[in-house]
Amino acid sequence: MTGDASTILIVEDEPPIRRLLRSILAAHEYRTLEAPTGAEALSALRHHRPDLVLLDLGLPDIDGQALIGRIREIAPVPIVVLSSRGDEAAKVAALDAGADDYVTKPFGADELMARLRAALRHRLQQQGAERTFTSGDLSVDLVRHLVRRGPEDVKLSPKEYDILEQLAIHAGKVLTHRHLLREVWRDETVDPQYLRVYVRQLRQKIEADPSSPRHVLTEPGVGYRLV
Ligand code: CA
Repeated sequence: MTGDASTILIVEDEPPIRRLLRSILAAHEYRTLEAPTGAEALSALRHHRPDLVLLDLGLPDIDGQALIGRIREIAPVPIVVLSSRGDEAAKVAALDAGADDYVTKPFGADELMARLRAALRHRLQQQGAERTFTSGDLSVDLVRHLVRRGPEDVKLSPKEYDILEQLAIHAGKVLTHRHLLREVWRDETVDPQYLRVYVRQLRQKIEADPSSPRHVLTEPGVGYRLV
């Protein structure tokens, strides 16, 4: 049970999937609103101020990416996209348009709830809470720029730290290659291969077993996620 009574706006044109989402969310004590079209989604957003939008990219009346842009003009509400298996380009485009995360259809209830919780928590963090990320033996102090693995201080190069900092600020959330290149290199046209090299070095320093990472996870074709 989650029990925080957040309200989730379900934007999905297919009634069976809407029903499925409604029953999963109700079982975790979320309140739900439903919209089968983009136009109804925008209207619900203006009138009911949901805490999160769960958005199917394949709607009959508006392109998913365009709808994310319209939602962003109205409210800073977290957006989790429902996307099709194998459509990495659509996921990346949705994330770059301002979505917070995605869930791939067909999805399991556990995965869906994990993504929603991360997106809701991330929004709270942005409102000014936690300045330290901790998970298992890893801790990242974002104020003092200190990284520890267990009792040991970890020495990172500036680029390695900048990558880890971005991942920690957005912990639980997938970051696209483009996002990381923009924030760390200040240049989205840098070859993502550089990013791979630095992530590999970072894993050597912070992962117990760099070949099967527990902290910095790869989202194939999309980016990285710190868990
Ligand atoms: Ca659809």
